Amino acid sequence: MDLKNLTISKARKSLDSKEFTAVELASAYLEEIKKKNTDLNVYLEVYDDVLAQAEEADKKIQRGESTPLLGIPLAIKDNIVIKGKRASAASKILEGYVAPYDATAIAKLKAQGAVFLGRVNMDEFAMGGSTENSAYGVTRNPIDPTRVSGGSSGGSAAAVAANLTLGSLGSDTGGSVRQPASFCGVVGFKPTYGSISRHGLMAMAASLNTIGPITKTVTDTEILFDAIKGTDPYDGVTIGEGVYPLTVEKKSLTIGVPWVLLEEKGIENSVKENFKASVEKFKSLGYTVVDVSLPHIALALSVYYILMPAEISSDMARFDGVKFGLHVDGKDLLEDYMKTRGTGFGAEVRRRILLGTYVLSAGYNDAFYGKAQIVRSLMQEEFKTAFESVDLILTPTTPAPAWKMGEKEDPLSAYLADIFTVTANIVGIPALSVPSGTTSVDGIDLPLGIQLMATHMGEKYLFKAGKDFLGE
Ligand code: GLN
Repeated sequence: MDLKNLTISKARKSLDSKEFTAVELASAYLEEIKKKNTDLNVYLEVYDDVLAQAEEADKKIQRGESTPLLGIPLAIKDNIVIKGKRASAASKILEGYVAPYDATAIAKLKAQGAVFLGRVNMDEFAMGGSTENSAYGVTRNPIDPTRVSGGSSGGSAAAVAANLTLGSLGSDTGGSVRQPASFCGVVGFKPTYGSISRHGLMAMAASLNTIGPITKTVTDTEILFDAIKGTDPYDGVTIGEGVYPLTVEKKSLTIGVPWVLLEEKGIENSVKENFKASVEKFKSLGYTVVDVSLPHIALALSVYYILMPAEISSDMARFDGVKFGLHVDGKDLLEDYMKTRGTGFGAEVRRRILLGTYVLSAGYNDAFYGKAQIVRSLMQEEFKTAFESVDLILTPTTPAPAWKMGEKEDPLSAYLADIFTVTANIVGIPALSVPSGTTSVDGIDLPLGIQLMATHMGEKYLFKAGKDFLGE
């Protein structure tokens, strides 16, 4: 089986035409995982019932059933729960936790007969951009194993890039699906806020959070998105089918480029060159490219790194040693909390809880949290206005290719790498990262990516432009 060139849509055809069975397909991935996982550290756990799941799928295929994901092997980020399986968010605080229910996205995939290979590595509770914050070690980049795979969904991206799955789910609060996808040379998609239920996704900053697919092609991303989107009584912000009004009937789409953002510090020349070439490619594909003004876009990082920890400080309060996972005994309840949280949470999680508590505290609330909320509203208005004259907004996905493991020990330098991705979460709009070529560093061709953003529920524009650009 040629796993390197296999996609979800190709596998669908082969499964339906009985070229291979779901069991054969799953076995091929299990073999590959056996070969590579010790070195790359992608899967935290490979499930023991993979072949049983595949057998079930085969029975349905034998009966003539076909859904887009029937028998398709998938990897799931360790913060999305599957009933009866362990889930840790790559944190020691959830040691031994077994999920009592399915996330809504998982239930929808199960209904289609998808095959879950296992749970994959991530930054602890999705806080980070390299999987270096995992309590279970870093995930190496399959293209250059001395480098990180990105994060926080590093395992989800590396799994697809290393042919250890056909597709995966990650989560994106500020770029955690798009950035690792870009670092690993695959497609990563953050949908409109509320279009995929967050029920069963462990919260990190609830107003910014979404589940998102990672795949090799835009077509496959669309297949996964269609399978898991939709309203859900368990998540009050979800939006339904009826609100995807856009059709892509227009002959030529217009792309806006906020060129001033490219002048910010820390954006590598290779990225700028690659981006300019990508703009030219869109022009040659018939797209109109214009300059777009988004006056507050450069403040996105500051806004994100205030709002996100503020929400985290509250979201993380539920991990107290009583309800889930780890419990460390102290002399009284307060000391139980302190010992459990002090032992269970890693440094980055504790840093963000502190930061969030600080920006919300009396006296600082107005100065930090309140201001950031105001700028968030301004940015939402600006994007709304911009999307009156353009269909898409284009930026690079990251300011540089994947970094070396250990290179960004100063957390602030890692935060700066999120400059292009956090905006879509602040505004709530969908954004797609597509591979855009490579840059040669130390003789290795490292992947680069571009990011397309569209208006709320404008996913169809993204999929069209992404397919035009990538060819699949
Ligand atoms: N890198 C960003 C952060 O550390 C994004 C995280 C995410 O999207 N989950 O906050």
